[in-house]
Amino acid sequence: MTCQQKQQIYNLLKTAADSVLGFRVKSFDTTPVFYDDPLPAPQNLQEQTDLHEPSLAAPAASSDHSSLDFSTVHSSLEDSICNLKNQISACSRCALAKTRNNTVPGTGSLKPVVLVVGEGPGFEEDRQGLPFVGPAGQLLDKMLAAISLSRSSNTYIANIVKCRPPQNRDPYPEEAEACSSFLQAQIALLKPKAILCVGSVAAKNLLKTEAGVSRLRGSFYQYHNIPVAVTYHPSALLRSQDLKRPAWEDLKQFRLKLLELCPDYESSCQSYVSH
Ligand code: SF4
Repeated sequence: MTCQQKQQIYNLLKTAADSVLGFRVKSFDTTPVFYDDPLPAPQNLQEQTDLHEPSLAAPAASSDHSSLDFSTVHSSLEDSICNLKNQISACSRCALAKTRNNTVPGTGSLKPVVLVVGEGPGFEEDRQGLPFVGPAGQLLDKMLAAISLSRSSNTYIANIVKCRPPQNRDPYPEEAEACSSFLQAQIALLKPKAILCVGSVAAKNLLKTEAGVSRLRGSFYQYHNIPVAVTYHPSALLRSQDLKRPAWEDLKQFRLKLLELCPDYESSCQSYVSH
């Protein structure tokens, strides 16, 4: 079992205990650190030996090395993302740690074409420990699907702050600052081809600007040489029908940029499978 699966089961148990008992059980006060179960190495080795036995007399082919290297790199990326999630789970760098039910580190493909950055978890995200799972999340999935992106195949979704601000207020600057190294680490590890900021909180904090979405949208910016586009947060689109057309224009422009950067990215898209 992976550390992510263990974390999700833990979150479910904690939420169930809260709902049934009506108060927080003391043993859930501190989030434990989870690790992946170790692979049964000797068995794998045996299977590999069986598979390659006929070619034992020949020197090892270079393709064997490349596949071994790839799995090692992939596994170390998974480990790094998992370690980061554990660090976030244990974090108490800002006041949001005191009021959260769950941390919401992020979710999606570990080889993303796109990283979507939102502002912070809301009620449902805090309850489930996953980003963009309420009505705004469902709209975000539809927006992404319209340009052949999905969190199950080619997109990763994260927020500026990993804990819910009370009453869904904007995160305070000191909270965003305290949390910024986690997003920086996610970007450095995942190496997305492009970033889509949804909403002004995401844009302001990532691009270090005071400008709002209506001024920022329509252009591309750079974050450590990664192109960044800005559009409206899906919650804003749910509140105002008038924003849907400009948001769609933004998505079409973003798709053209993706085709420039990664011409076959659309073939990697699968529809979103709910967690
Ligand atoms: S919002 Fe970020 S910095 Fe603040 S407690 Fe949560 S994980 Fe830590």
